[in-house]
Amino acid sequence: MSIPFVDIAIIGAGPGGLALAQGLKKNGIDAAVFERDPVRADYVQGFRMRIRQRGIAALEANLPSHLFQTFLDTLGIAPTETLILDERFNRLENAGWGSGEPEDTHIEKSVSRITLRQILLSGLEEILETGKHFQRYKVLPDNTVLAHFADGSAIRANLLVGADGAGSAVRRQLLPELKSVDTGVRRLAGKITLADAARHGISPLLTDFNTNIRPDNGRSLMITSHRVGPAAYARHGLIGAEDVTHRDIPGFHFNNTTSYTWWNTAYNRDELGSDDILETLDGAALLRALIARIGDWDERILKLIRHTDPSTVALLKVRTSVPGANWQSGPVTLLGDAIHAMTYFRALGGNTALYDTGLLVPQIVAARRHGKPLLAAVHDYENAMREHGYEAVRSSLSAMQRNLGAGRPLKSLLASR
Ligand SMILES: Cc1cc2nc3c(=O)[nH]c(=O)nc-3n(C[C@H](O)[C@H](O)[C@H](O)COP(=O)(O)OP(=O)(O)OC[C@H]3O[C@@H](n4cnc5c(N)ncnc54)[C@H](O)[C@@H]3O)c2cc1C
Repeated sequence: MSIPFVDIAIIGAGPGGLALAQGLKKNGIDAAVFERDPVRADYVQGFRMRIRQRGIAALEANLPSHLFQTFLDTLGIAPTETLILDERFNRLENAGWGSGEPEDTHIEKSVSRITLRQILLSGLEEILETGKHFQRYKVLPDNTVLAHFADGSAIRANLLVGADGAGSAVRRQLLPELKSVDTGVRRLAGKITLADAARHGISPLLTDFNTNIRPDNGRSLMITSHRVGPAAYARHGLIGAEDVTHRDIPGFHFNNTTSYTWWNTAYNRDELGSDDILETLDGAALLRALIARIGDWDERILKLIRHTDPSTVALLKVRTSVPGANWQSGPVTLLGDAIHAMTYFRALGGNTALYDTGLLVPQIVAARRHGKPLLAAVHDYENAMREHGYEAVRSSLSAMQRNLGAGRPLKSLLASR
């Protein structure tokens, strides 16, 4: 049986892998994406993603202009003003809030992950294969790469790009010593539709602002909203509509056409309960655990938590990669979370994955159109990617430390592995 060949094989159809495929397609370069899961229904997929200038610029470079326009037209609307309250609902001064970085002027850009995926998938039907669970690769004597999948199939390529996320199997083989680290932080989040919030009389201070509850003593709670306009999006066809692949999943979590308010909070391990116990709890029980912890907070805040849709609530263990790995460039490379997975603090992971694609596409174009040796192109991409990617990991870790205050010092967190 002959093994098919493609110039650039991409493992993983997350934002990184798909944006790369879009950019290569736009430049007429032969590429194919191999994705394990036919449906993307991991927990965070039900939320919006905060998208910054670096992510938007990469999308503009990689998408055909009509799809980039669709992206702009279907962005959700997030509050633009920030409000800080204490747990008694007293307003605090905003002084010292925000990183002051110019990119934060774009903080209000809020994209539904479901809508972003619909955009990124558009036009890739012929080069995306799902149900392809990558297992291992082999570099052949002619420096091409053979990638093997769980279904027994294989693909040969000039370049294999691991865009397969934080648990990357490509990275496991390329950089086996690089581990994913449990930061010891546990994140809890949930959503309520704006219609339900109004019905239950939730204060507009919790639905119309980016509201940060900063208790005198305890963990902060971030609240914001994502407003959508399905009627306005209708001219873009299925983009911004409900995703058919979520049709059989009950509950509001993967609803893509209803505006909502959502909150998230983070605790150190064991503060809310032991992992053993928390991992067995459903959304309703997790809400009760949180309310038990913050039961003395103002009733207006508690009401928001109490009326949160339990099907949208889950606990996540916050993990990070350890920045700094270096390696010799070859015909296998990495992109996005596969190499620089980071905590969600500062909302940089997806943006950094997109930014990577803005670095890699021009390098591959230089190789394919202007005679640059492919390995030199990969090398230049990796140098630039490592520099900004590792910086983003460090920045998200320091934001986590600032948020959690007296957690374990970062150095010991990363050195203890
Ligand atoms: C709670 C939370 C909130 C966040 N909020 C933000 C935010 O507001 N802004 C932001 O920029 N980032 C945010 N992030 C980070 C962001 O979600 C990730 O950085 C981003 O999804 C990374 O994209 P990726 O394409 O590199 O990987 P992924 O999105 O993880 O995609 C990897 C893909 O590879 C596939 N795959 C995995 N293994 C295999 C295999 N062996 N074979 C084939 N396919 C495989 C997976 O199914 C998946 O489709 C947040 C993360 C979390 C956890």
